[in-house]
Amino acid sequence: MATFELRPETEQQTGLEPSEREGLGRTLLLSNSRWFMRLRWIVVAVFVSAALALDLLRDPVRSAGLISPARSLWVLAGILAAADSLLFLAARRFDGRTRVELLRAHLWAQIIIDLLVLTLLVHAIGSTSTFVAFAYLFHIALSCIFFPARESFLVTVVASLLYLATVALEAALVWPQSGALGGVAPGPPGAPLRMVFALSAVFTWFVVWYLVSTLSKAVRRRDQQLETANDQLREADRIKNQQVIVTTHELKAPFSGIQANIEVLKGRFRQELSPPAQEIVDRIELRARTLSERISAILLLGELRSRRAEPLARETVDLKALTDAALQELAEKAAAANIAVDACVPAITVPGNAKHFSLLLVNLLANAITYSHPGDRVGVSAGHEGERVWIRVSDHGIGIREDALPHIFEEYYRSTEASRFNRLSTGLGLSIVKEIARAYSLGVRVESEQGKGSTFEVVIPVRSEDSRRNDHGADRNH
Ligand code: ADP
Repeated sequence: MATFELRPETEQQTGLEPSEREGLGRTLLLSNSRWFMRLRWIVVAVFVSAALALDLLRDPVRSAGLISPARSLWVLAGILAAADSLLFLAARRFDGRTRVELLRAHLWAQIIIDLLVLTLLVHAIGSTSTFVAFAYLFHIALSCIFFPARESFLVTVVASLLYLATVALEAALVWPQSGALGGVAPGPPGAPLRMVFALSAVFTWFVVWYLVSTLSKAVRRRDQQLETANDQLREADRIKNQQVIVTTHELKAPFSGIQANIEVLKGRFRQELSPPAQEIVDRIELRARTLSERISAILLLGELRSRRAEPLARETVDLKALTDAALQELAEKAAAANIAVDACVPAITVPGNAKHFSLLLVNLLANAITYSHPGDRVGVSAGHEGERVWIRVSDHGIGIREDALPHIFEEYYRSTEASRFNRLSTGLGLSIVKEIARAYSLGVRVESEQGKGSTFEVVIPVRSEDSRRNDHGADRNH
């Protein structure tokens, strides 16, 4: 049994808003910010573990002539934990609609707090006697990814100033030098040499800032180019869509005319036609009907697509009434194919649009009937679980090959077995289903096995009041 799922569209699939093109998109900014806060807890854990280990190994540390920075580590872990809790609290209400400026200010606050804590750590462990000062590079590199070059440069300047000030204050004996290595420090002894060490470290940071920010600028520029190309493609697609609609519309009237004339021919002059001529007229009628159905499907798809940007008016749709109407519409088709339909749909109401939901159901049921064998049974059922209502259409027909399954919602796609089985297929029915699912954020799940049959399940999200109402409705119906 193979399965395939059409998921409701997520925010990421809709692309970045134009106002967010500078720097990172809001969604990315938000996820990076959360990642950064989570990472801080790992740093807290590292500080605590190191402090614990140093406390346990107090004697060996002392006998090696080192000064244990355990106390500083405990204090810094406490400061970081408190700061991160506050940052989490502030970010609690952040979501996809939070202003980009607010997200950036929050990130800036994180970076400043980290730089201050790092400066205290550098002082505690040894500003020029160890390489701990190079930990500033993490923030410099991260800021190049989070912010535009101007802002990441500012982060580099702040980091450099904090570090140089620490070394200068230590050298001037204003901020008594601690340092884990104490007396055994191999670093430069004199104040001028320490300043040279610090300045060369700062020089390295600016080089790193330049390299990373240039690379990240190039990646961002490429992102913007892709986004612009995407916009152009969307616009070209919109224009093409409009042209298709106009041309198809022009075809609609002549085809209605042909169909009307065929009806007259068959109604009034049938007796005068020889049997082969009658057969030809029947074939013309069938072709004209198929083409007319195709024209309606193309127009409908065009209409659904051109209204993508518009907010959809939602009404309350009763699935039982919808199913009854769909079955009535398809009764003739089912009878002609000798298919029986078992319907078990309680009176469930969902938010949506009756015309669109009916189209979706008719398309799924029509396919189930079309791809069933004569004498088969098709089922349609519905139910609800918490905040979702499901509706299932199942058949025991030809089924869908596993490799064809991911393609069935593509426009004009018809599997080879299906086109052999149903020579009049258009390959547009499931594209319409997909478009409606997209418009109303529905999920569609397909389970199928070749030769055994298929089940299409549509999941409609409902709010809790809707599901409470449905509970009462379903209770009454049982
Ligand atoms: P059409 O049925 O006109 O070909 P659709 O877009 O409705 O177009 O379906 C696309 C393809 O999906 C079909 O050609 C067929 O291969 C497959 N398909 C859809 N529904 C079923 C079903 N119930 N059973 C088997 N195959 C199906």
